[in-house]
This record gives sequence, structure tokens and C-alpha cells, in this order.
Amino acid sequence: MTKFVYDFAEGNKDLKDLLGGKGANLAEMTNLGLPVPAGFTITTEACQRFLHDGAHVDGLDEEIDRHLAALESAMGRKLGDPADPLLVSVRSGAKFSMPGMMETVLNVGLNDESVAGLSRQAGDNDRFAWDSYRRLIQMFGKTVCDVPGEEFEDALHKAKVAKGVKDDVQLDAADLKELVAAYKKVFVKHVGHDFPQDPRHQLELAIGAVFQSWNADRAVLYRRQERIPADLGTAVNVVAMVFGNLGPDSGTGVAFTRDPATGESGIYGDYLQNAQGEDVVAGIRNTLPLADLEKLDKKSYDELLQIMATLEGHYHDLCDIEFTIERGKLWMLQTRVGKRTAAAAFTIAAQLVDEGMIDLDEAVTRVSGAQLGQLMFPRFDLSADPVSLTKGVGASPGAAFGSVVFTSADAVARAAEGEQVILVRRETNPDDLPGMIAAQGILTARGGKTSHAAVVARGMGKTCVCGADQVEVGRDQFTVGGQVVREGDVISIDGTTGRVYLGEVPVRPSEVVQYFEGDLDPAQANDPLVAAVHQIMTHADDRSRLKVRTNADTGPDAARARRFGAQGIGLCRTEHMFLGDRRELVERLILAHNKAERDDALAALRPLQRADFLEIFREMNGLPVTVRLIDPPLHEFLPSLEELAVQVAVAKERGSSDEQTERDERMLAAVRRMHESNPMLGLRGVRLGLVIPGLFAMQVRAIAEAAVALAAEGGRPRPEIMVPLVGAVQELETVRHEAERIIAEVVGDSGVEVLIGTMIEVPRAALTAGQIAEAAEFFSFGTNDLTQMAWGFSRDDVEGAFFWRYLELGIFGISPFESIDRDGVGRLVRIAAEEGRAQRPGLKLGVCGEHGGDPESVHFFHEVGLDYVSCSPFRVPIARLEAGRAAV
Ligand code: ADP
Ligand code: MG
Ligand code: MG
Repeated sequence: MTKFVYDFAEGNKDLKDLLGGKGANLAEMTNLGLPVPAGFTITTEACQRFLHDGAHVDGLDEEIDRHLAALESAMGRKLGDPADPLLVSVRSGAKFSMPGMMETVLNVGLNDESVAGLSRQAGDNDRFAWDSYRRLIQMFGKTVCDVPGEEFEDALHKAKVAKGVKDDVQLDAADLKELVAAYKKVFVKHVGHDFPQDPRHQLELAIGAVFQSWNADRAVLYRRQERIPADLGTAVNVVAMVFGNLGPDSGTGVAFTRDPATGESGIYGDYLQNAQGEDVVAGIRNTLPLADLEKLDKKSYDELLQIMATLEGHYHDLCDIEFTIERGKLWMLQTRVGKRTAAAAFTIAAQLVDEGMIDLDEAVTRVSGAQLGQLMFPRFDLSADPVSLTKGVGASPGAAFGSVVFTSADAVARAAEGEQVILVRRETNPDDLPGMIAAQGILTARGGKTSHAAVVARGMGKTCVCGADQVEVGRDQFTVGGQVVREGDVISIDGTTGRVYLGEVPVRPSEVVQYFEGDLDPAQANDPLVAAVHQIMTHADDRSRLKVRTNADTGPDAARARRFGAQGIGLCRTEHMFLGDRRELVERLILAHNKAERDDALAALRPLQRADFLEIFREMNGLPVTVRLIDPPLHEFLPSLEELAVQVAVAKERGSSDEQTERDERMLAAVRRMHESNPMLGLRGVRLGLVIPGLFAMQVRAIAEAAVALAAEGGRPRPEIMVPLVGAVQELETVRHEAERIIAEVVGDSGVEVLIGTMIEVPRAALTAGQIAEAAEFFSFGTNDLTQMAWGFSRDDVEGAFFWRYLELGIFGISPFESIDRDGVGRLVRIAAEEGRAQRPGLKLGVCGEHGGDPESVHFFHEVGLDYVSCSPFRVPIARLEAGRAAV
């Protein structure tokens, strides 16, 4: 029989799939001998069955009963015993941490009778007992029975107003007893029956609610954002309660073993005296810095530091921790390898290498291309001395500006209109998630680096300043130091320094970009982040097998990409070379009446193309440059049908018959003739080359001439001519035949070598790759078109039309245009790679779609054994890092 419940002593940190992160780490800490309250974990598998079978899971209740009995005998108390109750928390905990997304209920086991027993246990502390009871009704009501949380908050607020106090702690036992009565009324009103008094029934309902919270809207949304699979389910941890709300000698806190923003070692965390659980994270009262605990309770403080050192030594990484002190006794309630900013990920990895805790291979796996991407965000340029409004805690780095909005809904609405917004909240809670996603950045008045806003923003890589406590947030304005900022006013927030500015502050390149540009020497920069990036990138390059090229079609782009570490150009598009004042030549080409006119137009284009290629070959001297022959349908270069039709009609109306009008009429006829219903499947790519005499020949000649010119300058050109949209080897052979003749003619004995290959972007090409390889010296997978044609999705149309629905239904977790569809499109890539290489050993294989810069896809291309990926210049460092990570 499947085992559904594990005692903490039975688990360990590697069982995250089954026990969730929280449960696995509680087990690990238990087995390390750390002070963890006793408890057990119900597995994710039980959750999956529960959600699938609808509530009843065979054998689960009995197993829970057995473990509960063991817990009761270990604690010497029975759940909810009127005389001397055991209370438990019921906590969610999935494989991947989803901070604040799912539910936890504390103080399960309290009822009208056991509340008295709890008071006696605590030395006749009625205040504490009633406070715990009102918390249970509130959390249970909200999470298990969907009672709107505001109703409880209103009742609490009323109680404070009636008493004339500000803080919860100023309410006494009698007040809290009354509050419990008020809460019960709220409960009955919404649920239709009394608050359940049977402790075992409370436990059962709470467990069911935690299971169910896996499918709460905000959890679903968060998983989609973070690309966490939807079917994992959550584990449930049942933990004996310890109490931080017993008085001033008790409290609760959170801590990091290093600064999660910068990676510096030290004491980072928040502590709150006389409080339970969520009070710290929720920012209900302002917390003390953890260092102050030393003065309040030196014994617990020292023990905590010791435990933090043990955990770092054990996990070899930054850990974050939740703890509670009950009357001077320290309890550990949670730990996990902590989330961190992108900058901290690099500096921590480098520090751990220096400290000998991990090696460089491991360091490379501790960072990601996505994080490197964040570090390449621009920073504020403060030289214009912007008006500084205030300073909060820099919780998630980046430089963001936008119009101020005060609600999640407004953020979503304005962003949908294309406006950049900054979401300003006193504090955020999980309901703000859609607004946080829509906003450029988030500013809160309350809460520290561990607040909901901070944790979620860091996870999303969104700029966040939190705890700006001088900010008074109102309904449609905020004030700070006498300054009023209204909804719609623009502010700028710096998630690194925590500074908030009025208006839009200009931005400059980040240090990391300056380093990649070669403007910052890592040895001299005296910047730990730049040093860490340098160390890790160097190792990634050493280890990677996959080369990284760039997509570039101008000299400056090629030069930048080379500085960023590109090892060649994987895709040089030639279509931009037909734009601007050259359009006129293309028009002449299309409108040519005869061979002579056409040859004229082509002859005029050739020197222009040659100059373009020479510039690029120079920048990439010594490295391969793949030039794609013209690909888009030619009518893309012509005026629009509608405009032209109107123009001609108007001219006719006026009766004008000059040369211009005559030309326009001819053009209109040509545009009409060339109109296609499905241009992406029409006359483009190799088909153009076969239909328009001389077009490809002109391009091939220009490429060969440019190469010869560079060789004459003493350079080393390595051109590769790429034919787009080939579906049959015969197409390629025809083009190749002519190209080889021209190349031989131009190159002569200059020693220049020109390769000829093809894109693989039509499914038929992938499926006949063995034949095509006979005529190709290289393949480059055009994964954009390959995806488009394999799925039958029109890339330009699907996003808005129905992709959102596909994502919602989970048909795919991420757009196949963003990350390669391994099963379908990926399979075509595999087939083509294998059959191509079988035909022509050593066939060079690369990728030039957007996927070349996508971390997940880079790993796939490494696995398939391609030689290189090619991506836009700014993604080159990201792809380099991922290529290294794929190889370690
Ligand atoms: P989350 O995943 O949202 O952090 P947790 O399950 O960790 O939720 O619990 C919420 C809060 O309640 C945390 O502050 C935690 O430390 C506290 N808590 C959980 N279980 C107990 C317990 N048995 N005794 C005291 N506090 C607890
Ligand atoms: Mg927690
Ligand atoms: Mg294409």
C-alpha cells in the first residue's frame, strides 16, 4: 500500500517531490538534531489523489490517525483536549516554494472548552488563549470556509476603536473573548453553521483546504508565471504548535544566513516580540532588526546564529529560516535554500567558491541565464539630480518608472492600455499578484526584505522598493514629507538602492553590460558582482561545447555581439539591405519589363550589398558569418495595396496622366498580381531565387566579392551562404549549381572559401534531411518558421487570438515560440540532425530562431548535439552561460 504520511524523522531533504520543500527540510532539520516541533507530513501524492478522486482517499484518514496518535503520545497531550490541549498547525508546502500562495491554519484544536485548558497550560494566561482562539477562527474561516478576510479585520478594527487602542497587543482577555464571539457571528453568517468544535474534524477540514489551495486562482497564476507544472500538488505538514504570542519573552522571526540582495554575510532578518506566525511577514506591526534580539534574549540569539552556521555548512548555500521563541526556548519552523536577487546569486556562488564550500562547476549551476539577463537591465543616471522623494528597502533590483496606481485592478487596466505603471501599496498580499505582474515596479510602505511584496517581486525579477515607511498611502494619492503624488503622476524607483524619485529618471547601462562591453576591467573594477560574473562566465565558456553566435545584420551589431562573446554570426538577414532609398531599386526590379531592365536594377543593388557584407565580414574577421539569401515575399517591399489604390483612384478622378500616375498604375497592377492570401506560405525564400532570375546570383556574387575584398586587405573572411525555406533537395541543388559557378568565378585563386548550406525550417526539409545533406555543407534550424509550420500557427496572429486560452487550459505551459517544443518541433530537429549527419559526417548544425537565446531551449540544443546557437547580441552572454550550464 502506498505510504501517505511520513513522520519528520522519516524524511529528508531529497524527498521534495513527495514531502514538498517545507516537509523535506523540516525532516532534514529534525535529523540534524535541531529543535523542530514534532509533526508529520502528508505527501503530495495524497494531494494528487485527493484532487483527482474528489476528497476521499482510501486509507488516508487511518494513516493520519495513527501518526496523530504518535504525535499525541510524544507530546503527552491530546489534540484539543479540554483540560490540556495539543494544538497543531496545518501547513501547505509544495515541491517549489510558492511564497504566500497557499494556505496555513494555526492553532487547530481550539474550541470553546479547550481554550480554557490552553490558558491553564500557559499559567492562567487568558489573554493568550483567547488571542489564539480568535486567530484560529479567523484563519480557518478565511482559508477553509472562504469567509471574506475583511469581515474579520473589520471586527478586529472595531474592537480596537471601541477600546481606543492602536495595536492588537493592547486588547486584553475580555476584549478578545468578545472578539471571538463577534468572529463566530461572522462565521455563521457566511458559512451557514457554527464554527466546528470537534478538533479532529477541524484537522480534517484544514487538511482538505490546504490540498484544495493548490488550485486557488492565485496559485495557478503564480505557477504559470514561474513555469511550475500544474499537477504536482502540495504536501501538508501537521506540526505541534509553539507559541510566540505568550508575552514579551516570546516572539517570532525570519532570517537569512546572508543578505539575499547582495550576498554579503551577516545577520539579516526581522523579529517581532509577542507575536505569532504570519505577523512578521504581513507587516502588521513594524519589526525589529534581527540584531536587536541579542539584547532581548542573548541565549536564543546565540543558539540561532549557531544553527544558521550549521545550516549553511550543511546546505552549502544561503538559507532562509522561520523561527519562534516560546518563553526563551528557540524553535525552528522552516528552512530552505533561500530565494535571492540575481546579483546575490552570482556573488554568493563566487563567495562559496572562495570559501571552498563549492567548486566552479557547482557555481555555474547556481546561477542562470535569466538572472544574468536581469543584471543587464539598465540603471538610473542620476547626473540630472532628480527629486528624491524617499528611500525604502531595495528589495528587488532594476530601474523602473511609470504612472502611479494604487490598486491591482488599476495596474492591470492601465497596463492593458500600454501604459507603464508603478503599483503603490501599503503592503501587498497574494490578491495583488495580477497587478504586480502588470506593473513595471512595486513600491510599498510597509514590510522588509522578507515581506510578501519583496519575495514575490524577487521571484518575478520585478523592480521593488518596500518598507518606504515615510510614505502615507491613500486611496488615490500618496504623501511623503509634505509632497503629494497623485494617481497617474510618474515616479521612478530603484530596486537596488531603494530610492524613489519624482518623474522619469534617465537610465544608463548596468555595470555588467559595461563589463561585457569591455569598458570595465574586472581586475580593477573593485566590484564584487563584476568579479563574480567574470569568474563564472569564464568557467562557463571553458566548459561549454555549444558555441554561441549572434544574429546581426549591421557592422555595429556585429561588433557589439563580438564584444559580448559571440563566436560568429549565425544569421545575417539581407532584407534590411533592400530598404530605405534602396526600395526604389527593388521596385525597378519588380516592375522590369525585360531582362535588360532587371539586370540594370540588380547591377545597381550589387555594389551596395557588397559594401554591407564587407563591413560585417571585417567586424567578424576570422569568424564564420552565415548570410541568408533574401527571404521575405517581395511585395513586403512595395507600397500597400489600399494606399496605392486610393492614390490611383484620386489621380484618375482628376484626370491626370503624367509619368508618376502611369508608374503608380503599373505598380498597383504589380501589387495586385503579387498579392497572396498566405504570404508566409507563398513566394518567398528559395522560391524567389528560383522564380526571379538573377536575384540570388546577384547576392552570391556580392558575398563572394566582399570576401575577396577582405582577403585582399589581409583579413580572413569565412562566409557561409544560407538558402532559406528549402523543402526539397532539388531546390537547393538548383541554387547551389549556379552559386558554385559564380563563387568559382569571383574567388579565383584568392584562397577564399565559401560554404553553402540551408535552413531547416519547413517540416519536409527536416524529414528529408538525409537527402538535403547531400547538397548542404551546414544546416541551420530556423525554429521560428519550423514551429509555425509544424503547429500550423501563424506567429503574428496567434498570441492575441487564442494563445492565452491555450496557456490557461494548460495545452502548453509556455508559448512554443518562446521555448522550443521538445516533443514536436524538437523531434523534427533531432531527426534532421541525425539523418543529416548520417549522410554527411561532420555536417555543421546550428539554430538561428529566437529559441537560440532561450535558456531552456539552449539546453535542448546541447542535448541534441548541435554545434552552435545564434541569438540577438544582448542575449549572447545569456546563451554562453546556459551553454556552460548545459555542459557541467
Ligand atoms: P508560508 O509557507 O506561507 O510561510 P507557513 O506554513 O510557513 O506558511 O506558516 C505560516 C506562519 O506560521 C509562519 O510564520 C510559520 O512560522 C508559522 N507557523 C507554522 N507552524 C507553526 C507552529 N507549529 N508553531 C508556531 N508557528 C507556526
Ligand atoms: Mg513559511
Ligand atoms: Mg524563416
